[in-house]
Amino acid sequence: MTDAVSITTAGGGTQTSLLGRIGAKAEARVIPISVHLDLTWRCNEGCVHCFLDHSVGGDMDTAEVKGALDQLAAAGAMFLTLSGGEIMLRKDIFEIVAHARSLLFDVRLKTNGVLIGDGEADRFAELGVREVHISIYSHLAEAHDAITRVPGSFALSIEAVKRLTSRGLAVEIRVPVMKGGANYARLRALAKEVGARILYDPTIIPMMDGDRTPVSLNLSPAERAEFYADPAVLIGLEDDCAPPAPAGEELLNGHSCGAGHLRCYISPQGDVTPCVQFPLVCGSLRRGSFLEIWKSPQFAEVRGIRNRDLQVCSSCSSLSSCRRCPGLAFQEGNMHGASSQDCESTYFRTKVPTPLYPATDLDPAPERHPPVSGQFVPLAALLPAPRDGMHRDPAAY
Ligand code: SF4
Ligand code: SF4
Repeated sequence: MTDAVSITTAGGGTQTSLLGRIGAKAEARVIPISVHLDLTWRCNEGCVHCFLDHSVGGDMDTAEVKGALDQLAAAGAMFLTLSGGEIMLRKDIFEIVAHARSLLFDVRLKTNGVLIGDGEADRFAELGVREVHISIYSHLAEAHDAITRVPGSFALSIEAVKRLTSRGLAVEIRVPVMKGGANYARLRALAKEVGARILYDPTIIPMMDGDRTPVSLNLSPAERAEFYADPAVLIGLEDDCAPPAPAGEELLNGHSCGAGHLRCYISPQGDVTPCVQFPLVCGSLRRGSFLEIWKSPQFAEVRGIRNRDLQVCSSCSSLSSCRRCPGLAFQEGNMHGASSQDCESTYFRTKVPTPLYPATDLDPAPERHPPVSGQFVPLAALLPAPRDGMHRDPAAY
């Protein structure tokens, strides 16, 4: 899940944390408190699994971005994630962050960190950025660099983590996990060494234009079984692996996530969708106001879907445990349906067969699958060359 903030709402369970209560209120009042805004899809890395088309231009200019932020603040948005592409390719990045902070947004950045030197780190600290996410793929530089397709990128990204944490900024190392796996314990140790939190994400998603090529980079069944058995992954996640409880009325009357209810996504070109992972375009800021789009029939349809309406999931015995992503279901052709990727993940997490992933010959009996952790697969060889618009030489910036 690509949640912009850790607000757990799925249709109104009792919320005890402050963020949970804020989220529940926002959801009840249909306030978009959490917004993910991509500032550009251009990037200085060419990651093998990326779901963006870096050749798409037409980014909103500074005035358009500031205007969007003004509208979001007026609509009640509080949590802002600025992402890309690579945000540091925007010459106006500090002007945009300063404007967001002047509107009292809680700002989180997603960057590869390659272009963050001392001056940039100082500026983000001065501006009061709350958190920075930086993707690291392996504790081995050559494995990381092979995925970003930028020699030297591991060293630059790790330096950026250190620069930011040394200035008191919270940094989370995000680990998109893919074929070949990774040494999760060594990555956790690396994060600790540089003062960052760590989060593993084992879901590689299709491209926004529907091209499912990156999905082939997901962990194999054996690797996924190993992932969910690794103590370094499971710290704090033990409950997620327990057998699912039966779904109650509250859950059936709820919905999968906050996308379209209290959060949304805005592309660099101003298109508004329920989530970065849910590419249902509901309108464009270049043709209408944010609130008009937020009140559009498309958003209303998303909000109208309750778990009890879902075609397969409503009767699934794993519903209470599953993190069904309606965006992935949408990309598979039906936002009212199941997501095969979540069916697979839920099975490997709980070991309980799911409707689209019944236990078969893929049952991850360890004796049938030798350990794979830490092996490095040359992923770049599995995919076509990067599309136009990628800039792979960090020295060029
Ligand atoms: S496991 Fe599959 S069918 Fe069950 S709730 Fe999740 S996505 Fe739906
Ligand atoms: S649409 Fe998917 S990625 Fe987005 S918030 Fe919902 S579950 Fe998470």
